[in-house]
This record gives sequence, C-alpha cells and structure tokens, in this order.
Amino acid sequence: MKLICPECKNAVDCTPYPTIAAGSVVECNWCGVTLQVSALNGDEVSAEIIDEGK
Ligand SMILES: [Zn+2]
Repeated sequence: MKLICPECKNAVDCTPYPTIAAGSVVECNWCGVTLQVSALNGDEVSAEIIDEGK
C-alpha cells in the first residue's frame, strides 16, 4: 500500500492499518494529520485531510 500524505508529501506507514479501505481514517506518522481514505487504486491509496492535527 502506498499512501502519500497530501500535507507533508511523505509516504505514510500503512502497516498499522491492515484493513485499510475507502472511508478508513489513518494518521500520518510524519506530520500527525488525520486522513480519510477516498479511494484505493491497486496499490495506491488516495486520501484527503480531515483534521490538520497539531
Ligand atoms: Zn503528513
């Protein structure tokens, strides 16, 4: 799974989220924003920021 954080452009570690799917909420392990998965396209995950965090 490849999820690039839209905020900091780093690759988010998806391993804590083995059941990731559209609608899943994940936290960027780099900048702390909360992301909601909008789409999965093969191995690529798209997400949008729902909470800017700190
Ligand atoms: Zn980030």
